[in-house]
Amino acid sequence: MPSHDVIIAGAAPAGSIAALVLARAGYRVALLDRAAFPRVKVCGNCINPAAWAVWDKLGLTDSYRALPHQELTGFTLRCEGRLLFQQTFRPPRRGPRAIARDVLDDWLRREAESAGAEFFPETTVTGLDPASGTVQTSRGDFTGELILGADGRNSLIARQSGLMPPPRRCHRVAWQTSIPAPPDLDDQVHMHLFKEGYFGYCRFSPTHAVISMVLDSRRTQDPLLLVRRYFPDFADQPWLRMNPITRASAELGTGRVWLIGDAARVVEPFTGEGISFALTTGVLAAEAAIAGLKKSNLASALQTYARQHRQLYRRRAWVNTLVRWSLTTPSSAVRVLRKVERLPGIVAFLSHRVHSR
Ligand SMILES: Cc1cc2nc3c(=O)[nH]c(=O)nc-3n(C[C@H](O)[C@H](O)[C@H](O)COP(=O)(O)OP(=O)(O)OC[C@H]3O[C@@H](n4cnc5c(N)ncnc54)[C@H](O)[C@@H]3O)c2cc1C
Repeated sequence: MPSHDVIIAGAAPAGSIAALVLARAGYRVALLDRAAFPRVKVCGNCINPAAWAVWDKLGLTDSYRALPHQELTGFTLRCEGRLLFQQTFRPPRRGPRAIARDVLDDWLRREAESAGAEFFPETTVTGLDPASGTVQTSRGDFTGELILGADGRNSLIARQSGLMPPPRRCHRVAWQTSIPAPPDLDDQVHMHLFKEGYFGYCRFSPTHAVISMVLDSRRTQDPLLLVRRYFPDFADQPWLRMNPITRASAELGTGRVWLIGDAARVVEPFTGEGISFALTTGVLAAEAAIAGLKKSNLASALQTYARQHRQLYRRRAWVNTLVRWSLTTPSSAVRVLRKVERLPGIVAFLSHRVHSR
């Protein structure tokens, strides 16, 4: 394979947006993904309003607006069937949207290609040699000055470069399916908590809705039991599965290997912020990399990226961290929510922090 300046493993939001920024700056970028695109992915399909700042900065706003989508106009929270909280998002409508992940991710990788990145689908990363900047794949070796691991929560790049801390057992598993949208389904995000875990659903197109569940495998091994309880009409749907839900954050980089998006840090799916964090960290890393490659000083560029990464999560992830803390054991989260029910102002404040930017 011809050598590139930057090799990016993973062509989802983090990898594609980093590829776009680097390619626009004139660098030769190889964007690798094991999947053939478009491809489906376990996700609730909600794009947090923080993503608008990324589209604005990169001139992608009009193109994003043109994607098939569903505006999301509010949020409801139920606990064991009882409505606890309901919020209508404030216009103007630069709010959250739902977009199918096959549509969003395929659009982003096409934008990266238009910017000049070379996309290699069905190219599985199997190993790497950080010292020589070589990434081994099912299509042969790729070599670059910098390797960006954008390969998600089970990142092979993070594991093989020693950046991933030793795994801790995570008992929670995600399940997801798309269904024909029931005619009476509104355009809000609906979250529902119960002692085995939680699920969320929303419409993402005029015809379809997505259901995502996070279940504690110690309380139920069989998501179909829950599906039959809450969605009896959809028990025969094919469900996709994913874990872990919780994972310790990785080191951000070492030498010429850096991590972005979920590969670096995973947030709780409940608040629907993972995509916007992936986009923002992809841009931060790419901008730091451009400065580092120009000055042949990747070490100082990595420090810049690490500092900005810390600031980003300190500023924006505290609600998510609080939610994760209470959801790690769903049965105690149910107890917490019963108490919070008497203080709806707290939930309104937290929801506003997540859904309005
Ligand atoms: C149940 C659930 C619901 C969620 N709902 C939402 C939501 O509504 N809104 C939201 O913002 N976030 C949500 N998230 C989180 C969101 O999906 C992630 O944060 C986001 O996808 C991270 O993007 P990424 O680019 O870092 O990596 P990913 O989207 O994980 O993509 C990684 C890419 O790397 C590729 N890859 C992996 N390994 C290899 C390899 N060895 N070789 C080559 N390619 C490889 C994969 O094919 C994939 O394309 C949810 C997560 C879960 C589990």
